[in-house]
Amino acid sequence: MLPKSANTVIIGGGVLGASAAFHLGDAGQSDVVLLDRGPIASGTTPQAAGQTGYLNVDKFAFEFGSYCIEFFENFEERTGHAIDFHSTGSLRVALTEKYQEDLEARLKAAREVGHSVEFISSERAKEMVPTFDPPANSRILLIPRDGYVEPKSVAVAYSASAKDRGVVFNTHVEATGLVVENGRVTGVNTNEGTIEAEWVVLAAGAWTRQFGQRLGLNLHAVPVRHQAFVTGIVAGVYADQPIVRFTEPQVYVRHEAGGLLVGGYGYRPLSFDMDEFDQKFEISSLEADPIYYQQLRDATKAFFPSLGDATIVQERRGLPTISPDGRLVLSEPSGLRGLVVLSACGVGGIDRSPGAGRIVADIVCEREPWIDPSVLSADRFGDDYTTDASLRAQCEEIYAHHYHEIY
Ligand SMILES: Cc1cc2nc3c(=O)[nH]c(=O)nc-3n(C[C@H](O)[C@H](O)[C@H](O)COP(=O)(O)OP(=O)(O)OC[C@H]3O[C@@H](n4cnc5c(N)ncnc54)[C@H](O)[C@@H]3O)c2cc1C
Repeated sequence: MLPKSANTVIIGGGVLGASAAFHLGDAGQSDVVLLDRGPIASGTTPQAAGQTGYLNVDKFAFEFGSYCIEFFENFEERTGHAIDFHSTGSLRVALTEKYQEDLEARLKAAREVGHSVEFISSERAKEMVPTFDPPANSRILLIPRDGYVEPKSVAVAYSASAKDRGVVFNTHVEATGLVVENGRVTGVNTNEGTIEAEWVVLAAGAWTRQFGQRLGLNLHAVPVRHQAFVTGIVAGVYADQPIVRFTEPQVYVRHEAGGLLVGGYGYRPLSFDMDEFDQKFEISSLEADPIYYQQLRDATKAFFPSLGDATIVQERRGLPTISPDGRLVLSEPSGLRGLVVLSACGVGGIDRSPGAGRIVADIVCEREPWIDPSVLSADRFGDDYTTDASLRAQCEEIYAHHYHEIY
């Protein structure tokens, strides 16, 4: 039964909404209701590769990422619920001078705070990942603390620990709008009635921008398609092998169920306006782009020859949200007090979920922020990108260069 009122209503039970629920509950805010129009983790979250990657030359991103990786390493202790975090490490591979310099800058940033990160030889990389043929003259950075998780398990574990802390979950309930009085949110309308609320967290994934548009807000979080595939079992692939990420071409390869999971950026970037879809559209029915899949395979098999004839047993795809600068959009927008927008996960919402949920709790509990979140402000783009076309073009561009510029 839908409660009549709550201190905070969260719209969306993907990994971001679930993390917000956990962090609010953990901060002592038990009067919290989470709504999802489907089951928990039924949007883009279960499609993810679930990789973490915390090392960045950007100071904010590195500090933020460091909180996130520590959280994943101690997930069960923090939440009381286990996830299968595979702390495999990652190999970051750069072929050209420009991106090799970027790796050197990452190494420097890591060492400044005492993290053990090192360049390794092609021979060592091949020992660690036997199916990988390192390209000649590449540089390979070993980042031991990176890893991956089964993405749905993360949202489910956050939800279970939020419930332990008193948060109420109402699934199969759709938020249809907000009640607003004098520029402040006072409730959420749903298909099952209205819930009065002092705070609303909008974590509706691909639908966040559309929801905002109906309130007259221009939220800079555009759904952009991302695809990955999984092969059947491949000889010589091991569960504990590190993720391999190539800055050029922008692809990632990790172990999945004895085979290889391969995804990448820059392949036929395509954004969406959710009004283009039927109202009942679900992420799981997003149409495949076979050319994107083929390009991904062609780009990767030069370094993983066994991909040439491997059978694809699973396709993953979804609509992560992207902002014009690649960072999260996470704050109260100045146009509407009491609303906390939690979106623009980049293709990194699993990875970023611990830090993002913690910022939501800081805002709602009106406590000292754990990190200065001003770079994530929903207002930061001002009057830029007032047309959909300009906004979508910029977000596609950001997606197209995800490993080059952001990650
Ligand atoms: C192929 C692929 C690989 C990826 N790999 C990685 C990776 O390696 N690492 C990583 O960190 N990230 C990765 N991602 C990105 C990651 O999946 C997303 O960043 C993350 O799942 C976004 O979570 P979310 O909570 O914002 O959205 P979602 O999971 O889509 O959740 C939004 C929820 O809101 C609900 N909702 C929407 N509108 C309403 C409404 N009006 N009322 C009620 N409920 C509503 C939906 O039903 C949905 O459950 C990948 C994505 C894809 C597609």
